[in-house]
Amino acid sequence: MRTSIEINRSALTNNIKVFRKLVGKKRVLSVAVKANSYGHGLVEASGIFVKAGADWLIVDSVEEGIELREAGIDVPILIVGYVPLKQLGKLFDYDFRAVVYNKQTAKKLSTLANSRRKKIGVHVKIETGTTRQGVTPKEIIPFIKTIKSDYIDIEGALTHFANIEDVLEHDFADKQLDIFKSTVELLKAHKLPLKYVHCANSGAAILFPKTHFNMVRVGIGAYGMWPSQETKLTAMRMHRNQLGLQPAMTVKSMIAQIKDVPAGSYVGYGCTYKTTKKSKIAIVPIGYFDGYDRKLSNTGYVLIHGKRAPVRGRVCMNMIMVDISDISNVRLEDPVVIMGKQKSESITAEQLGEWIGTINYEVTTRFREGLPRVIKK
Ligand SMILES: *Cc1c(COP(=O)(O)O)cnc(C)c1O
Repeated sequence: MRTSIEINRSALTNNIKVFRKLVGKKRVLSVAVKANSYGHGLVEASGIFVKAGADWLIVDSVEEGIELREAGIDVPILIVGYVPLKQLGKLFDYDFRAVVYNKQTAKKLSTLANSRRKKIGVHVKIETGTTRQGVTPKEIIPFIKTIKSDYIDIEGALTHFANIEDVLEHDFADKQLDIFKSTVELLKAHKLPLKYVHCANSGAAILFPKTHFNMVRVGIGAYGMWPSQETKLTAMRMHRNQLGLQPAMTVKSMIAQIKDVPAGSYVGYGCTYKTTKKSKIAIVPIGYFDGYDRKLSNTGYVLIHGKRAPVRGRVCMNMIMVDISDISNVRLEDPVVIMGKQKSESITAEQLGEWIGTINYEVTTRFREGLPRVIKK
């Protein structure tokens, strides 16, 4: 294969151990594997996480959950995204847990549970200020009352922080936490046992033990990346170290052609780049179809022989052109690192994100699902 994504097993395993140490043995350590495991390969990364000691997996959709079950993964799976009313039966078929926040869902689920006589666990999402999925504290008791089945176990309550990773001041998160806590108390006062109370994503799990309750939901950190520079700075101040998270993904391609071109040659669509001197240009078979953003045109770099080679001209659908004038002895099919380490150089997801004005989350999730994920070590 000419372009593939290598996944470092020991890095992913290490990251789970880091979070286990952070949250202790007794808490449920759930790992978000939505978005193709943040681009790392849904089934591949999930298998590694479970083996490393992750207790639960979190997916966005029923389809993702089914893929995991069909791959033989049998740990609890919590679906946090919307499940269409027509798909609710699948929750019973595949033993999924689901986050609920719509009355229509609660009603339909109650009818299904009663007719199937099968237990199902649901987690109630509480709106605390993110204005995303969730039921406001005011509406929560009437909402709970729409769940009318002894087969439905309201085992969890959760919320999600709006900006815990984007700021150095955490007063908004504190306010959300207060609202969450009082709503959980309200639910408990209505005799809901709530075995699982959870709100911590990676940022909260790393920075605030008070958000751990008895379950955390870790995403980006499990892949060895930081939720943000702010979180990293705050964490280093608090923990006095970097926790030892290790990125696990290397995107690799190869040289498809090498050409010597005279000064004044245009490169690529739109003639947006013109060589200023006699140059050596290499063609690399990765393009925006693969998740290599077109904004990297004349902006990004790749690694060849451990050196940075600049992207020249526009990123095409299936290929890019890079300048290798300063790199000697480059040959056909030499490896090209698009993201990751090569010798002492590296291009991180954060760096790629900076070049195109986005975050590491978007960079890794956008590498095309069809590119093979190869597990290393
Ligand atoms: C994706 C997701 C997480 C993980 O967030 P990170 O910032 O990647 O740690 C946690 N909770 C929910 C509901 C999510 O959808």
